[in-house]
Amino acid sequence: MIDTGYGPRVPEIRSAIAGALHQSPRWLIDTHWHFDHTDGNSTFAEDQTTVVGHANCRARMSQDQFVPSLEWGVRSSPRSAWPVLTFNAAVSIDLGSQTLELIPQESAHTDGDVVVWLPSANVLVMGDLMTNGSYPVIDESSCGSLHGMIQAIERLLPFSRHASYHRRPRSAPDCSRFFRCGDPGRRAVR
Ligand SMILES: [Zn+2]
Repeated sequence: MIDTGYGPRVPEIRSAIAGALHQSPRWLIDTHWHFDHTDGNSTFAEDQTTVVGHANCRARMSQDQFVPSLEWGVRSSPRSAWPVLTFNAAVSIDLGSQTLELIPQESAHTDGDVVVWLPSANVLVMGDLMTNGSYPVIDESSCGSLHGMIQAIERLLPFSRHASYHRRPRSAPDCSRFFRCGDPGRRAVR
């Protein structure tokens, strides 16, 4: 499982997964610390799912956070929600039928972004490094930056198919269009 969604939707997500798998996911991978991606961590951890994430994701979940641009004041998450297995270099998980590649990014949306590459499905799950139909969201309080977002998209653009957290899966042309959204900001930065 990759991310657990926003709090009010967690029971619905849990029910859908239980109906499909008839068991709890073995692994839960957080793409970053934001609550709309991690609110369900404790629920799945109670079901014996192992929560995995960037070391900085755990660090931020363990402390109160404030995001000025979004006026978000976020209390620290309960310890049961924190990733118990953390990393800051690429990690592979062999599921038997397929392998997941967990690839931490340089600071971009936050300082704890992870993308998940599923080579057998040719899918890249990008968390909030990409949003569909809007400008990128950058959490400056977590060391995010426009420069970092552009660099991340430049690195990831060669992947042939993409999935975005917030809306429908994206294709490579969608990704190219999103990438061009950063051009005015990039020129301003330079
Ligand atoms: Zn986010």
